[in-house]
Amino acid sequence: MTLRIGHGSDVHRLVDGRPLYLGGVHIPHARGLLGHSDGDVVLHAICDAILGAMAEGDIGQHFPDSDQRYHDIASSELMGHVGRLLRDEGWHVHNLDVTVYAEEPKLAPHRHAMRSRIAELLQIPITAVSVKAKTNEGLDAVGRGEALAATAVVLLSDGADASPQG
Ligand code: MG
Repeated sequence: MTLRIGHGSDVHRLVDGRPLYLGGVHIPHARGLLGHSDGDVVLHAICDAILGAMAEGDIGQHFPDSDQRYHDIASSELMGHVGRLLRDEGWHVHNLDVTVYAEEPKLAPHRHAMRSRIAELLQIPITAVSVKAKTNEGLDAVGRGEALAATAVVLLSDGADASPQG
């Protein structure tokens, strides 16, 4: 069995008048993330971690913001594309672990929905998907509530039999 590890991170500015999407889930909040797509930092960090593990560049290379096809696109579509790419190349997501940095809203009530949606998009068991949330203790742009950020690590294997049971 061959294993590959990848890391991804992302940050987007929080602005008025945009819906908030995190982990492919709509989260009721007064502000949303500014971006060419829906700005979903969780899915973007996971996509970059997968592409990193495959040594296939990054999300900006696969979905350039100069391309109008990706304007206001749901990040779940980008994630679906990355998932197909990894399966086409014979890889399987063994597990992934995401940390979201947000001063608000509180994300604990949405954690299960995010895990479930990410698992569905990548066609893997929910037990292979971890989502954790932290604040930045009032420090920096995230701490001031001006932005949300996420980091992700993913482990790929070249065999489906490496997937965790359950
Ligand atoms: Mg992004």
